Amino acid sequence: MRSVYLDHTATTPLDPIVEEAMRPYFTEKFGNASSVHHYGQEARAALDRSRDALAAMLGARPGEIFFVGSGTEADNYALKGAALHIAKTGKRHIVTTAVEHHAVLETCSYLAEQEGFSVTRVPVDRDGRVAPEDVLDALRPETGMVSVMHANNEVGTINPIRAIAEIVHAQGMLFHTDAVQSFGKIPIDVRDLGADLLSLSAHKIYGPKGIGALFIRKGVALEKFMHGGAQERGRRGGTENVPLAVGFAEAARLSLERRGAEQPRLLSLKAHLTGRLCGAFPELLVNGHPEEALAHIVNISFDARKLSIDGEALLFGLDLAGIAVTSGSACTSGSMEPSHVLLAMGREPATAKATIRFSMGNSTTLDDLDYAVASLAEVVRRIGRPV
Ligand code: PLP
Repeated sequence: MRSVYLDHTATTPLDPIVEEAMRPYFTEKFGNASSVHHYGQEARAALDRSRDALAAMLGARPGEIFFVGSGTEADNYALKGAALHIAKTGKRHIVTTAVEHHAVLETCSYLAEQEGFSVTRVPVDRDGRVAPEDVLDALRPETGMVSVMHANNEVGTINPIRAIAEIVHAQGMLFHTDAVQSFGKIPIDVRDLGADLLSLSAHKIYGPKGIGALFIRKGVALEKFMHGGAQERGRRGGTENVPLAVGFAEAARLSLERRGAEQPRLLSLKAHLTGRLCGAFPELLVNGHPEEALAHIVNISFDARKLSIDGEALLFGLDLAGIAVTSGSACTSGSMEPSHVLLAMGREPATAKATIRFSMGNSTTLDDLDYAVASLAEVVRRIGRPV
């Protein structure tokens, strides 16, 4: 059976070039980067090179890049570390948005429920975009920090981060952005964006799973999150994962090298897929900003006022045809909950449940997309009921 992977937003396959770059650090160059002997020095040099490379790509200083275990950990560290530190000055209010990844939303809920913070979740418009004025309206004298994602992982919408950061900084507050989905796809310069804290993850860009990074602008103080050894300049104890850091830097280098050709290719695939889908299904709604959006994500919903279709059955039907996609819905206690992102964008719950996110990658072809649309048409014909 044909197999088509269209879930690159969930994760990407490890690039063979990245695997090759990592390999020696699993085997002969296995040293502990904290050891003083030459094994350790070799590992330390590789770690430093990886940090330098990532810093250069982000317009950061090497000392501002901290390796962590995932994008989720980067978000946790940024939010808990900053919020708990700032709380010492009495500021216990956090501003975030309604469409963040669970790594941010759940961390904010934890801070609210366990640490007594209050949290404001700024709404988004119909395209999933956060308006800088709405962030301004949400700020209070007791606001300590603001977290707004760079690009959304479900619908691909890109936020006006620079304008938001300016507003936040004008009030002397700290600004975090989750750039897990945007990194490697659109340019990121931490100074230009105005980020004090910025989260990254390797496995979204053909790098290994299990490593992320947090940019912490020099001078930003965070409560310590991981207690242990002096690794990562005392901020994150635990023996450094040198092979994964090497893989992360190599994946980032490749994404930059390829971006110039790859992004226009993905944009034309996106236009092709969107056009085909809209042509095939009159009841279709396209989710996400028409221009300010990542090139590789196409998110669509079937309008529940026109077509009744079970979202879960839709995904299963496509999987049976060999097509791997996802919806933004989360499976909670055995039932599908509509995506918080689509609800925040104003979609009806029933429509939000009938959603498919196609996310393309560097192996995706036009033919894959035509096959996906034809398969979807077949599934919809089988299980869809006109209203
Ligand atoms: N933030 C965003 C926007 C994401 O899309 C993801 C992963 O899907 C994460 C954070 C979490 O990253 P990780 O899978 O490395 O924990």
